[in-house]
Amino acid sequence: MKILVVGQGIAGGMLAWTLHHRGAQVHIADAGLPGGSSAVAAGILNPITGKRFVKSWRYDEFYQTAESTYRSVGTSLGISIWTEQPMLRLLGSAEEANNWSARCALADYADHMAEPQNAGSWAPYIRPGFHIGLIKKAARVHFDLLLDAWRKWAQQEGLFSNKVIDYPEIEKLSAAYDAIVCCEGYRGGDNPYFPDLPWQIAKGEALLIRLASPPGAVLGEMLKKTMTLVPYGSNLFWAGGSYQWHYPDLKPSAGERDYIVRHLNEMLAVPFEIAGHHAGVRPTVKDRRPLLGQSSLNDKVFLFNGMGTKGALLAPYWAAHFSDYLIGGKALDAEVDIRRVRGA
Ligand SMILES: Cc1cc2nc3c(=O)[nH]c(=O)nc-3n(C[C@H](O)[C@H](O)[C@H](O)COP(=O)(O)OP(=O)(O)OC[C@H]3O[C@@H](n4cnc5c(N)ncnc54)[C@H](O)[C@@H]3O)c2cc1C
Repeated sequence: MKILVVGQGIAGGMLAWTLHHRGAQVHIADAGLPGGSSAVAAGILNPITGKRFVKSWRYDEFYQTAESTYRSVGTSLGISIWTEQPMLRLLGSAEEANNWSARCALADYADHMAEPQNAGSWAPYIRPGFHIGLIKKAARVHFDLLLDAWRKWAQQEGLFSNKVIDYPEIEKLSAAYDAIVCCEGYRGGDNPYFPDLPWQIAKGEALLIRLASPPGAVLGEMLKKTMTLVPYGSNLFWAGGSYQWHYPDLKPSAGERDYIVRHLNEMLAVPFEIAGHHAGVRPTVKDRRPLLGQSSLNDKVFLFNGMGTKGALLAPYWAAHFSDYLIGGKALDAEVDIRRVRGA
C-alpha cells in the first residue's frame, strides 16, 4: 500500500514509522512550518492530572504501549529516548494534601501516587510550606532527539520531502497514492477535507531555565505545581507550559514569559536565568480525544490528529491502532473515530 503522510511531528512521525515497519510504502512530507507543537514539548507522560488528581484516560494501557514502542524505536535508531522519571507534586494547601492522601489510599492509584516524607534533593530549591506528593509511573520522551533521528532516517531511506502539501494538490496526489494521511498538528483545523471538527487549539509557551544550584547537584525528579520543571542536565530545566486560546501570532510572547516566571517564583526558592523561550500550538479537541478517520469528501484522505496535550502518551498506541485500520482493515475505536463528532 502506497501512503503519503503529511506532517512529521510526533503523530505523523510515529504513524509513518509504524506503517513502514508493517510493510507499507510510506512517503513523508513536512515543511517545518512555524507553530509545530512537538518541537517545543517536553514529552512528559504523567498519570495524575487536574485539580482533582484523577488518573488520565486509559493511562496504563497507553503507557505500556508507549514504553515498549519508544524503547524499540530508540534501539532501532541507536538513541536513548525513553526515561522513566518520577515527578514531585507540590501541594499548596491542606485541602490539596488531604485530597492527595485520599487518592493514595485507593487501590487503583497506589501504583501511581505516594506521600514521601519530604522533597529529597529538591528540598533546598523549593519554597517552604508545601506538602509533597510523588507521582510514579511518569516518564519522558526525548522528542528533540527522536524528531531529529526520524528526519535523518526518512531522508536516508529516500522517504522524505521537505515541502508543504497544499490542499488543492491533494486531489491530484490522491491519484498517485492509496492513502494520504493528514498529521498536520493544529493546522488540521483548516483542513477542508475535515470540516466542522470540534477543535479547541491552544498555543503554549515554555522556557529553558538555568537554576542557581551547586555544580553536580542531582535533581532527578520532575517537579510540578502550576508549571512543570523537567531536568535537562547541567542545571538546565524545561519549564512550562502556558495555555492560550486567543493569540495574535505564533511567536513567544513577553506576557507568557512573565506568567511562567511568576509561577516559577511561587515554586522555587532559588534564582534562575532564562536560557530559552519557545512557543507551539497544541492540536487540542473539545472532548480531549484524538481525531482519527476518513474524509467524507475523498475516500483516500485520512486524518490522524488531535493528540492534544498528550502526544507522547497517545501517539504510539493510536499509531498502531490506525495502522491496523488502514492496512489491516480493522474497525476504528469509536472513542477516537471522527464520526463521533462529525458535524458537531
Ligand atoms: C508548550 C507545550 C508543552 C507540551 N508538553 C507536552 C508534554 O510534556 N507531553 C506531551 O505528551 N505533549 C506535550 N505537548 C503537546 C504535544 O506537543 C502535542 O500533543 C504533539 O506534539 C502534537 O503532535 P503533532 O504531530 O500532532 O503536531 P505537530 O508537532 O505540530 O506536527 C505537525 C507537523 O506537520 C507539519 N505540517 C503541517 N501542515 C503541513 C503541510 N500542509 N505540509 C507539510 N507539512 C505540514 C508541520 O511542519 C509539523 O512538523 C506540549 C505542547 C506545548 C505547546
